[in-house]
Amino acid sequence: MKKSTNANGDGGRGNARDRAARRMWLLSPEAGFGGNGEKVQCAAAMDRCEGLVSYETMNVDRIVPGCLGGRYVRTNIRPTCFTCNNDLSHEQKRELRAIRQDLRELVAA
Ligand SMILES: [Zn+2]
Repeated sequence: MKKSTNANGDGGRGNARDRAARRMWLLSPEAGFGGNGEKVQCAAAMDRCEGLVSYETMNVDRIVPGCLGGRYVRTNIRPTCFTCNNDLSHEQKRELRAIRQDLRELVAA
């Protein structure tokens, strides 16, 4: 039996139709990322990435990451390229490690 992907276990990623609709919306001018319906600029870091992404190449990034409770809702997603999306997840992991270390030191003090 196929494992179900409900809104609880996957951060609200949804089914294939939901994911397609999300990408189409991020490409659209209405989303506010400067998209023209076909391409949109990678929104991870406007100053360091000039990359344009399309429906096929887009990575949908959660601004508040899943590990902190961020969900796939319009107010929490942005289009990114593969490289930035990868960098961001590494950065977030580094930040989380630093926060955990701070907490351990606070508890130990
Ligand atoms: Zn990028």
